[in-house]
Amino acid sequence: MIKANNPALRSWIDIPKGSDFPIQNLPFGIFKTNYLSAVAGVAIGNYVLDLVYLHEHGFFDGLGLPSGIFNQKYLNDFISLGKKKTREVRERISELLQHDNDELKLNVGARELALIPMDEVQMLLPVRISNYTDFYSSEEHAFNVGSMFRDPKNALLPNWKHLPVGYHGRASSIVVSGTPIHRPKGQIKPADSELPVFCPSQKLDFELELAFITCQETKLGTPISASDAENHIFGFVLFNDWSARDIQQWEYVPLGPFLGKNFGSTISPWIVTMDALEPFRVQGPEQFPHVLPYLVTEGAKNFDVTLEVLIQPDKSDETTLSRSNFKYLYWNVNQQLAHHTVNGCNVQVGDLYASGTISGPSPGSFGSLLELSWNGQRPLHLADGSERRFIEDGDTIILRGHAERDHVRIGFGECKGKILPAL
Ligand code: MN
Repeated sequence: MIKANNPALRSWIDIPKGSDFPIQNLPFGIFKTNYLSAVAGVAIGNYVLDLVYLHEHGFFDGLGLPSGIFNQKYLNDFISLGKKKTREVRERISELLQHDNDELKLNVGARELALIPMDEVQMLLPVRISNYTDFYSSEEHAFNVGSMFRDPKNALLPNWKHLPVGYHGRASSIVVSGTPIHRPKGQIKPADSELPVFCPSQKLDFELELAFITCQETKLGTPISASDAENHIFGFVLFNDWSARDIQQWEYVPLGPFLGKNFGSTISPWIVTMDALEPFRVQGPEQFPHVLPYLVTEGAKNFDVTLEVLIQPDKSDETTLSRSNFKYLYWNVNQQLAHHTVNGCNVQVGDLYASGTISGPSPGSFGSLLELSWNGQRPLHLADGSERRFIEDGDTIILRGHAERDHVRIGFGECKGKILPAL
């Protein structure tokens, strides 16, 4: 067992009840303040622990970390040290925060400088994202979309249960939670028109997803096996794959999503390590027909992470739109990475691999407005009395996620973005 995951651990820092960031989580991120430029930190309760300060003042001595490893705009160099080393760092941070460890606790000067209240920091993108891929791994989502646009009897295309379908997305437009997104404009073909028109999207949507981040460079031509895939995955973030359904519907044949997706995607700022999610492993859905040998995985490869989507119209209250779970995914992350590289495609440090929209079996667990409003046919009623078929200007979409067991809650924080009018 990973020592830092022990449910019995307590910290000398006061952790508010229901916090996403107890001592068992310790997710990594990049932050800045009014007086500090971008550096690496770890979330603990309502604080951010400044890793540069700890490293410079000897708290990581003996771990053999390169100097300046945390004094960087991105975590790429840190995570590329490999999971063995980053696990040692997480274990050491856990030690320093445990209630019976006095090293930092009784060093008032160090404590005050190393612990920064969360409301005084601005979170930034945690990694320089080299490449971004989006999968389509939720059977319920693929079934819903296939039923809507084709036929419920043939909702899944013939390849769907044989390989984790995916497409190459755009890394440059991935932004950190809190960054507003302008409504995209594009070509749309109205149902009653022969010709397309150019206008702001009328069917703007979110997609509820989780994404994993890779931490090892591989060589072109060398696949990653399904059994080795986890050694390449540092951790996970929440991911909102904003989608303009009307642009998407007109453009996507035959090469797939393009401008309907690449105008912006939002990630949560804290990378929850795969290590922290270890206690929440569950078996994935049974796969039938049997998958080809290179996609076979043994044991519990899914994770029980409760997910939630909320909408907040401008100056109004939040309404929960959906509750889903990462465990519903048909294809697990090992299979995704094995499939992605089976042809020899190389992986880079800081690549982002998103799950695809995560829908559950019931209508209340669908992971997009396309499904929740059934392509606009069934409007949703919000707490402020208004209705939604798709996202309106001024709406904020908030994704949340957490795993919970033995009174330990491993949370992801928020992945949030406001839609501004088209430019
Ligand atoms: Mn997607």
